[in-house]
Amino acid sequence: RDLAVLDDRVSGCRACPRLVGWREEVAVTKRASFRDEEYWGRPVPGLGPADARIAVVGLAPAAHGGNRTGRVFTGDRSGDWIFAALWRAGLANQPTSMARDDGLELTDVRVAAAVRCAPPANAPTPEERDACSPWLARELALLPRLRVVVVLGGFGWTALWPVLAEAGYAIPRPRPAFGHGVEVTLTGPRGPLTLLGSYHVSQQNTFTGRLTEPMLDAVLTRATELAAG
Ligand code: SF4
Repeated sequence: RDLAVLDDRVSGCRACPRLVGWREEVAVTKRASFRDEEYWGRPVPGLGPADARIAVVGLAPAAHGGNRTGRVFTGDRSGDWIFAALWRAGLANQPTSMARDDGLELTDVRVAAAVRCAPPANAPTPEERDACSPWLARELALLPRLRVVVVLGGFGWTALWPVLAEAGYAIPRPRPAFGHGVEVTLTGPRGPLTLLGSYHVSQQNTFTGRLTEPMLDAVLTRATELAAG
């Protein structure tokens, strides 16, 4: 099975009643500035090629970002940050991501979210995180060259451990705490895999200066070094 099949299947998932209700309600009520647009209103698949050596895992789509455009991190301020940084790192062909048909192409990186449906207040529950983790597991399993996972925020960091344990990676005990710049290398059936922590590109981090462009660039530079190594 390939990523296109996975993307198609995840797009039809209705496993979480609260999130299904929210994503579809937002798609009808809309934000005034997007009232003429047809919202996606479904789970948002990952983006990027199957030969990627780097994965970037975020939290969940934004109600008026990915839930509107149907492409991960596309059409909101978080996406402005991550795609500009991927472009600076040589992993994207353009620094912006405004719509699904804008010509964006990623190289050597697959971008996905731990939870695929937009949650109220950007806050999925632990049950929703666990319900969605099989999608993340399948996606990572379909990246045979994967060497590095850049994890944006503590939610994704928590979501990844059971996924990686299930995939056969040896998980340290206690589990390493999340932090910006934290680096953990695991051994597993497909060789080493390094997790790199980064503060999430959400506005509460980027507006306040908790996450700066140089901080994000440093993490992605390290990711490309590890992927090439
Ligand atoms: Fe399905 Fe994940 Fe959306 Fe829940 S959050 S409905 S598991 S795609």
